[in-house]
Formats: sequence, C-alpha cells, structure tokens
Amino acid sequence: MTIDHIQPTSKGGLNTIENLCLACRTCNEYKSDTTEAIDPLTNQLILLFNPRQHNWQEHFQWSNDASHIEGLTAIGRATAIALRMNNPVIVATRKRWFSIGWHPPEN
Ligand SMILES: [Zn+2]
Repeated sequence: MTIDHIQPTSKGGLNTIENLCLACRTCNEYKSDTTEAIDPLTNQLILLFNPRQHNWQEHFQWSNDASHIEGLTAIGRATAIALRMNNPVIVATRKRWFSIGWHPPEN
C-alpha cells in the first residue's frame, strides 16, 4: 500500500490525516493528481470517491463473479474509470484470488 493525498499537495492538499488514505500502488499511480472525472452515464464532471467522506458500499459493488468493481453512483462510476479499477491485471488477479477463497473482501 501507498499513502495517497486525497487532495493532491500540488492542488493545496495538506499532510493531515483527514487528507491521507492508503491506496494500492496501481490506484495511486492512476489517480495521480486527479480529483475529478467524467461519469460515463451522465457525461458530468464528478469529484472522485473520497474514502474519508464516502462509504464504499454506497458507491461500488462487486460483479457477480467478484472480478469487477461496478460503480453504483456517479462518484462510483467516475472513480472506477479514473483509477482503472478494472484493469486486466487486477481482474485476472481477482479471479485467481476468488478461486482460492481470498476474494471478495469482507465488508
Ligand atoms: Zn487499488
């Protein structure tokens, strides 16, 4: 895991606990200094999911085979795309984890 600045320091984000979260390296690199993305359903620019303010289960769900993260809201849809949460590497990994009972994570 890496430490992510929810509001990037390049955009005025502080090194306070309220602005920091753990993120896997891949998500953190895809997020970079992004704070908003397009919701593919409405084409509106949406602020990304904030793990300090939002509830994961409210904005995302696992697909039936637990290989994909599905956005339930504009925030979820925009964030899933911006952070490439369903890139081929992680989808293949989730399928392997699922086959041996390591996935999906419990809430
Ligand atoms: Zn990740």
